[in-house]
Amino acid sequence: MRRVALFGASGSIGRQTLDVLRRLKDWRLVGVSVHNNTEALAKIYAEFKPKYVVITGAAKPPEGVKALYGREGLVEVASAEDVDVVVVATNGIIGVFPTMEALKRGKRVALANKETLVAFGPFVKEVAHLGELVPIDSEHSSAFQLLNGVKREEVKKLILTASGGPFRTWPKEKIAKARPEDALKHPTWRMGAKITIDSATLMNKGLEVIEAHFLFDLPADMIDVRIHPQSAIHAILLLKDNSLKMHVSRPDMRIPIQYALTYPERVEIDIPPYLPPDTEDVVFTLEMPDTERFPALSLAYYALRLGGTYPAVLNAANEVAVYAFLDGKLPFYGITDVVERVLGENPYRKAKTFGEYLEADRWARRRAEEIIRRYPGPR
Ligand code: NDP
Ligand code: MG
Repeated sequence: MRRVALFGASGSIGRQTLDVLRRLKDWRLVGVSVHNNTEALAKIYAEFKPKYVVITGAAKPPEGVKALYGREGLVEVASAEDVDVVVVATNGIIGVFPTMEALKRGKRVALANKETLVAFGPFVKEVAHLGELVPIDSEHSSAFQLLNGVKREEVKKLILTASGGPFRTWPKEKIAKARPEDALKHPTWRMGAKITIDSATLMNKGLEVIEAHFLFDLPADMIDVRIHPQSAIHAILLLKDNSLKMHVSRPDMRIPIQYALTYPERVEIDIPPYLPPDTEDVVFTLEMPDTERFPALSLAYYALRLGGTYPAVLNAANEVAVYAFLDGKLPFYGITDVVERVLGENPYRKAKTFGEYLEADRWARRRAEEIIRRYPGPR
């Protein structure tokens, strides 16, 4: 039997992980965390009766249940002897603490939370070999599977695909006036609000390029992006002889979630293949991304090339700007404007320690808030 702790159990990835666990034989959910959602916690508790309940925000524990709290609670459960696998599907950088703790103890971490790697990549890398770090993010799950059995010197490029989001075909003037409700209409994936906005700006793909750099030890020049509106090919390897190796499945996160749990085994799943007769009109199109309309991608490459705390600053400023856009406090292109300004001012250029990276994250959030408060023009 494998014993799982699932952090961020009430979210989009969390709910889909619960769905996978309901069907997997010999797996038990022994720990969960939620942030604010009391109702979801009560339901999950009633169904799975996990031994550990962690609350990171304002949620109330189910009656008679002694909960653990905050970052310390997550770390305690991640290090518990009776937890084998930790699924990190929270939002935000809090994910780094249980991730590193579980890896240090030789456990498997199935990682959905991309902020952890983007902001603290060098530190996670240092401890990754002590345990097993298996990505859930669909592009990285595909890349992980594609790279398996391929000689590194035969790989020319790793290509991550992006759906292009809801504004793929919109002209720049129209995108500039986009409202949160427009940006929340993702064409292929159903996800949490923050990542859905990141998909509309393409910052999500930028964060994923950085994530791939740390996961697979590839330089920025070896990671490319192509727009693929069908979201069926998740990653592509361009090999030495110019042949392409691709990984294809329906856009359903339960496939990479299940794989991150059962790897190296592959097990049956109740999702049909992306292939006739199960899918009609199988079409694959691939386009170059337009960095003029979607500057977030260039900003992410810029931060990755500068290295150090720049990705952490990019991630923090972006997170604040995305929530400001959702609150109607910033226009759509205000998100990338704010990120660009905060990156340009980063005072943590020489930072080395984990503590300094955390400070850089806090500074970037404060600075982004200040810039947003004085942001000119209509919202
Ligand atoms: P959701 O917003 O749907 O869910 C987030 C989960 O984390 C909820 O359980 C929420 O609790 C909890 N949470 C929210 N804020 C905090 C916080 N500050 N500290 C701790 N826990 C918090 O997000 P998603 O499931 O979409 O995404 C989760 C992570 O996975 C993100 O890092 C995202 O980038 C990544 N990811 C998501 C994909 C997807 O398809 N959704 C694909 C690839 C990666 P509560 O509900 O109680 O507030
Ligand atoms: Mg992804």
